[in-house]
Amino acid sequence: MAKAGETVLEIDLLALEHNYRFLKSRLDPKTKFLGVVKAFAYGSDSVAIAKKLEALGADYFAVAYVSEGVTLREAGIKTRILVLHPLPVSFDNLVAYNLEPNIYSPKILNNFLQVAKKKGLEQYPIHLKFNTGLNRLGFVESEIDALTAVLDNQDQIKVVSVFSHLAASEDLNEQEFTENQIETFEHLTKVLLPKLKHKPMLHLLNTSGVINYAKAQYDMVRCGIGLYGFGNEAAIDAQLKPTATLKTVISQIHIIDKGQSIGYNRAYKAEAAVVTATLPIGHADGIGRQYGNGNAHVTINGKKAPIVGNVCMDMIMINVTGIDCKEGDEVIVFGTSPTAEEFASGAKTISYEILTGISQRVTRVVVDN
Ligand SMILES: *Cc1c(COP(=O)(O)O)cnc(C)c1O
Repeated sequence: MAKAGETVLEIDLLALEHNYRFLKSRLDPKTKFLGVVKAFAYGSDSVAIAKKLEALGADYFAVAYVSEGVTLREAGIKTRILVLHPLPVSFDNLVAYNLEPNIYSPKILNNFLQVAKKKGLEQYPIHLKFNTGLNRLGFVESEIDALTAVLDNQDQIKVVSVFSHLAASEDLNEQEFTENQIETFEHLTKVLLPKLKHKPMLHLLNTSGVINYAKAQYDMVRCGIGLYGFGNEAAIDAQLKPTATLKTVISQIHIIDKGQSIGYNRAYKAEAAVVTATLPIGHADGIGRQYGNGNAHVTINGKKAPIVGNVCMDMIMINVTGIDCKEGDEVIVFGTSPTAEEFASGAKTISYEILTGISQRVTRVVVDN
């Protein structure tokens, strides 16, 4: 791969392919695969990721909002797209772009049905979400009769899938809770399915669900973070490849004498002479202030170098004392080492957050060889 001359987020589609095949290998060949590409495909490039996954044979995509689905359609993506959190204000666009809503409450159901009637839709595909313990979005069991009564009396919309979402699939201390969610889903679908006119697909598992509860894969699984190289546990991370590498360069090197300070608010005071490197990346690029003051490190010429002082809007300073480096040298903020998970853990957060937070100012470079 080319050396970075500025801050870039490199997206490796071969790593994506590896991760896709790894996740598929944990599943029954008949199980459909939905690639979760919300939030710019976890901060990378949703179009490049979706095109690759479409070529690899992914069955479905999911985005959070309608606008994200519109971006994929405008780029020529033909695969079916589930919108996980559609809002009534965007229903016109949802239909215009052939996107499929998650219907998660009586209000959203009635809202969408009104739109479907007004537009004269027939059998428009919808997905029903049930709340089994996450307490975020979804119907509950007591709403089933009212729900099916609404569905029975119309021909505009058709339930193509019924799903739920696990709250703690990565946490083996919460195994009992997760098993309970699986049982609740099992029970709800047993009550609901005989009341529907068509047999819908069922789906429940996210990435860690696939890893830890593959028995509950039903007709489809919904994977996000695993596609991007993280499995919420070291043993799985070791078998996946990070798709995103955040690279930058050294802009300037400073020799700091004992007693001098570095950066805003003089947050770092040199107790001995140190050498620092200034990098063209800051909190406006997604490296929040919580990564400063030694909490995270980057890699320069194979050596770990911590962030010193406060993170600035457009720059960070790195302690490179004892590291053989010069202005113009490449810096790995995260990638294979440190991984996004390791980088994130320095600030007590998770890979999901650092990945999705890399701002659109950072150029995306897609690599497919
Ligand atoms: C984001 C999301 C996923 C993907 O979860 P990962 O842990 O990234 O695999 C799956 N389902 C729903 C409903 C989601 O919101």
